[in-house]
Amino acid sequence: MVITGGSRGIGAATARMAAERGHDIVVSYVRDADAADRVVADCRSAGAAAIAVRSDVAVERDVVMLFDRTIDEFGRVDVLVNNAGILHRAAPLAKFEVDRLEDVVRVNVIGAFVAAREAVRRMSTRLGGAGGAIVNVSSAASYLGSPNEFIDYAATKGALDTMTIGLAKEVASEGIRVNGVRPGLIETDIHASSGIDDRIARHAPNVPMQRGGHPDEVAEAICWLASDAASYVTGTFVDVSGGR
Ligand code: NAP
Repeated sequence: MVITGGSRGIGAATARMAAERGHDIVVSYVRDADAADRVVADCRSAGAAAIAVRSDVAVERDVVMLFDRTIDEFGRVDVLVNNAGILHRAAPLAKFEVDRLEDVVRVNVIGAFVAAREAVRRMSTRLGGAGGAIVNVSSAASYLGSPNEFIDYAATKGALDTMTIGLAKEVASEGIRVNGVRPGLIETDIHASSGIDDRIARHAPNVPMQRGGHPDEVAEAICWLASDAASYVTGTFVDVSGGR
């Protein structure tokens, strides 16, 4: 299982859970090598083979290298979790600079497309692969729109949802299932980028379940969609948002 952005948050929780359930793990990261090493150590403790690869999803050659490393180490790719994602400081659209828009699109959309491309090239039974599963980590933002915070981020997740629907149909006959998870407010570091203190506590009253979620609650959905238990499931989404 290749997990982009697997060093912290939802990606790290997914790596640890999938390792316990029998997957060998490749996590990518950009900045925090120590965090990535801790995830790898935990996966190995669970009995899995695991490596961390510094690979920026916004850089095409890094993503190609990530998959080449995976094939070198493990011989094949069964699952891609397209998890790496960023957001910028909360602001109304009227204040958005083009640099910000390019950054979020490059990571959240182009990065996910290139990673999916590399996965399909190696998984497709039409191209000599053994099939597999792709799980795109989208967001409830794709249907909420994130007004006054990050409509740009929300729109990148809308793009990811559309890719999920189209790619699922495109590769269904090539042994590849493509699905998405749409987390709501999950307790991870990503909220610090918004510049809003206690963002989860502020929004929690608007969540029907009245609380933020734990990364493991998202990892459960990712691991299920990636598993053979979801063998007839493709082109769909699991909302992990406490009813929001
Ligand atoms: P997080 O705690 O901030 O972790 C982000 C992970 O992505 C880290 O491992 C980070 O590693 C890595 N990363 C960041 N930029 C990267 C890049 N350019 N290339 C490769 N890796 C990169 O975030 P999270 O909350 O777990 O979010 C994971 C995914 O869930 C994102 O797609 C996010 O949009 C989505 N999501 C999160 C929430 C939530 O409430 N937390 C809700 C909905 C959707 P380094 O920093 O070491 O590079």
